[in-house]
Amino acid sequence: MMARPSNKEKILIVDDNKQNIEILMNLFKSEYRITAAISAERALKIARSDAPPDIILLDILMPDMDGYEVCRRLKEDEKTRDIPIIFVTAVSEVMDAAKGFNLGAVDYIAKPFHPPIVMARVRLHLDLKHKRELLEEYAFIDALTEIPNRRSFDHQALQEWNRARRSGQPLSLLLLDIDHFKEYNDTYGHGQGDQCLIRVAQTIQESLRRAGDLAARYGGEEFAALLPYTDQEEGCDIAWQILKNIEALGFAHQRSPVGDHVTISCGLATALAEDDVTLEQLIEEADQALYKAKRNGRNRVECFISGRHHPPDPEP
Ligand code: GH3
Ligand code: MG
Ligand code: MG
Repeated sequence: MMARPSNKEKILIVDDNKQNIEILMNLFKSEYRITAAISAERALKIARSDAPPDIILLDILMPDMDGYEVCRRLKEDEKTRDIPIIFVTAVSEVMDAAKGFNLGAVDYIAKPFHPPIVMARVRLHLDLKHKRELLEEYAFIDALTEIPNRRSFDHQALQEWNRARRSGQPLSLLLLDIDHFKEYNDTYGHGQGDQCLIRVAQTIQESLRRAGDLAARYGGEEFAALLPYTDQEEGCDIAWQILKNIEALGFAHQRSPVGDHVTISCGLATALAEDDVTLEQLIEEADQALYKAKRNGRNRVECFISGRHHPPDPEP
């Protein structure tokens, strides 16, 4: 499990009544960091800042904008959508709490406060938020190699694809597959096979240096690398560098017909912004190039040649 951040979680208390703020502040100040806002406008500003709160206690009746409207606005913005909101309502308004749930609030607390219950509810929703974040994180990480998984790749590939189309930049894709890995498992055992996979995954990841690059485990012993802003020539250089780095790991592979050590093969495909291809086609092209690398003797890089990267024929 990941270590919990040691700094205290942050509560934003929104109430136009300073006395209410004070009561809640006194309740929470020893355990949490507190920020208070006495207007809806100020609350939205804090929630949207670069240091957003972990949870919001939101009064319903405020003069400039009611709590429901604040909630609605926070929920429609991707940046603030996941901050849990607890409505704070006077007993006479409790019926309206249902409206708060419909808008996406996680809970409500009735005034006058019962401190232990207020504390327990806040603790509960902070715990749930923390667990939700962990689950989301794990859903995108491959459990064995701890690099991004296929789901992560699919997600990022689509984003980078759209970005490349918009920006007019090339996008390169590598598919990498360990050579004769079945033989490796058969020779050294599945446990040693796993160790090899872990090191190969890390090496691929460490070989990528640019901010937008992504290495992912694509299948059993197959990896993908997404290289934004990278044309075929650069992509090819990076691919060969990865192959060298894998060989340099020096994982003995006695029964490999390719060499004494573990090697991988790589297929590269590149899309330029003006190319009339889809992301699915690009992946298929990288796969074809990988197949060619296997057929041509393994431990090599092959590029998909589509003909579409050549300059157009001059007009007759
Ligand atoms: P090629 O050079 O053509 O790629 O041959 P190969 O033997 O690597 O390819 P093949 O697809 O025949 O075998 C892949 C092997 O990878 C078989 C499978 O047991 C192994 N493998 C897949 N996932 C894992 C894993 O998580 N751990 C281990 N140890 N082995 C795995
Ligand atoms: Mg293989
Ligand atoms: Mg394979």
